[in-house]
Amino acid sequence: MLTLPDFIPPTTAGLLPCVGQATLFDTPDTLDQAQAICHTCPARTACDTWATEQQEWGTWAGRTDDQRGTPHTELPDTPTLPAEPGPDCGTEAQRRRHIAYQETCEVCDVARAERVRARRIRDLDAQHALPAAGSRWGYRLHALLGIPSCPPCRAAHSQEVTQVKRRTSVLAA
Ligand code: SF4
Ligand SMILES: [Zn+2]
Ligand SMILES: [Zn+2]
Repeated sequence: MLTLPDFIPPTTAGLLPCVGQATLFDTPDTLDQAQAICHTCPARTACDTWATEQQEWGTWAGRTDDQRGTPHTELPDTPTLPAEPGPDCGTEAQRRRHIAYQETCEVCDVARAERVRARRIRDLDAQHALPAAGSRWGYRLHALLGIPSCPPCRAAHSQEVTQVKRRTSVLAA
């Protein structure tokens, strides 16, 4: 530690209670002190998500690397308040700011869902442009998008199922 997580807007960096106390977060010996600091932090949920995604070591959001793997929604005592939609709502940066302050925002959630869907459609197009005209990942994307699967993606999927069955029967033998 402690490089500042990129979800924290630079102007609020000074407000993070762990700033300047990096050594407390590097060892489980000072876990109690680190947890007490994180307990008051407005960025706790986002911090936990960030540390999990980055596979950080040390204590983040009151949890050691050993303890991570729990979904951040299971963190106790983190109230979530609805945010007033602002001019930046709809952008990813604003969504992350809401997460950092444990706010919910429908405008940002809807915009996020649309971005995810657009990306999945692009990914599916890319799978269909492959020489095999489909893939296992394509099959999954069809399901995620609620679009019936195409024959090449289905073929790739059943091939995988057959392989898994074969592997399982080898292990069981
Ligand atoms: S939750 Fe994260 S950002 Fe907040 S004090 Fe703890 S380590 Fe720092
Ligand atoms: Zn918003
Ligand atoms: Zn397909």
